[in-house]
Amino acid sequence: MQKHNFSAGPSILPREAIEATAQAVLNFNNSGLSLMEVSHRGKDFDAVITEARALVKELLAVPEGYSVLFLGGGASLQFCMVPFNLLEKKAAYLNTGTWANKAIKEAKGFGEVVEVASSKEANFSYIPKNYTVPDDVDYFHVTTNNTIFGTELAGDLTVKPYMVADMSSDIFSRPVDVARYGLIYAGAQKNLSCAGVTLVIVKDEILGKVSRHIPSMLDYKIHIDGDSMYNTPPCLPVYTALQTLKWLKANGGVAGAQKRNKAKAAILYSEIDRNKLFKGTAAVEDRSLMNVCFVMNEAYQELEKDFLAFAQERGMVGLKGHRSVGGFRASIYNAMPIESVQALVDAMKEFEKTH
Ligand SMILES: *Cc1c(COP(=O)(O)O)cnc(C)c1O
Repeated sequence: MQKHNFSAGPSILPREAIEATAQAVLNFNNSGLSLMEVSHRGKDFDAVITEARALVKELLAVPEGYSVLFLGGGASLQFCMVPFNLLEKKAAYLNTGTWANKAIKEAKGFGEVVEVASSKEANFSYIPKNYTVPDDVDYFHVTTNNTIFGTELAGDLTVKPYMVADMSSDIFSRPVDVARYGLIYAGAQKNLSCAGVTLVIVKDEILGKVSRHIPSMLDYKIHIDGDSMYNTPPCLPVYTALQTLKWLKANGGVAGAQKRNKAKAAILYSEIDRNKLFKGTAAVEDRSLMNVCFVMNEAYQELEKDFLAFAQERGMVGLKGHRSVGGFRASIYNAMPIESVQALVDAMKEFEKTH
């Protein structure tokens, strides 16, 4: 049976990226060797990481003066690496959910943290809007897509300090005005690759301004100087990232992805709003195009398990909601075809008819 993978992360990847990776694991560039057993400093792998870096710059129109890094440690390591490198006195954070909270927690170890606003009182079901970011902070940190609560910033904010953004779950899903950001980071396993690599895009001139000693592995400058090869990079996830980026480029780049993502989200949200059994959990204006969270309407609560089983029988996996929201979460990242979203919509309609 065809599977429809709605997992939140690790999550769906383009079939082409998976097949190309499988091939390279068996026989990398016809070398007779596996991608897993060749030197990261050899010319074949060097070409991979060089092209991946170039495609990141091309697809996101990264301006001059920024470096692109492929690091280990996941987005979670960035929660501490960002303040380690950038927080001298004070930083501002927007609290939009679990991941933002973790970032805030880490930053507090390095300096003063101003939480400019939070939607905690409403279980992070919306993105706060009327707040001020102090002018004198080192940076303003945002989580552009809240994977767990299904809310997303629809575009780039305008604030005086430079922004630092956790784009783990919506990177490459829309055009981004990189110039507004000092640093963008993203764990790969949502929209880019398999787990194991973290993409960092950093403006060179913001580095080197803090007075503390930074251990080498946590120092962006060291990684920039080493071309992401200060130590052995996660070769296989970088290879898969390159294949995803090639697929993205061949399919209209981030503008093309945004168009498809809007179309996919529209059919799913409109079914959630129409269907008597279901309701969305996120504020309508902040609804994520990547993670669609919904629950059973009050009168139908007891049908939750049944619907999950019903969907599973139709090949749908990963639909169970995160425990902090409950219900369902359909993650419909870049690689998710509209046909799979339609299959979910059809299942919702069919399930409604039988109840
Ligand atoms: C998944 C996720 C993370 C955590 O990523 P790891 O690579 O597991 O550390 C952080 N932020 C956001 C927005 C995420 O979706």
